[in-house]
Amino acid sequence: MKDGIHPKYGPAVIKCACGNVIETCSTKPEIRVEICSKCHPFFTGKQKLVDTGGRVDRFNRRFKRG
Ligand SMILES: [Zn+2]
Repeated sequence: MKDGIHPKYGPAVIKCACGNVIETCSTKPEIRVEICSKCHPFFTGKQKLVDTGGRVDRFNRRFKRG
């Protein structure tokens, strides 16, 4: 039995600077990023632009349902 020489590949969480947490698999249990798909300027900018159109509402509802 070797003890802890090789990094384990298993469940991991990506923690974004915006507070969003994404579950994934990696050799590191925790990964920190400064930007993710939730806070990327493309998404946040578009959300603000189409906020009155109801598209965001539909998008959010789909997300909550999982
Ligand atoms: Zn983010």
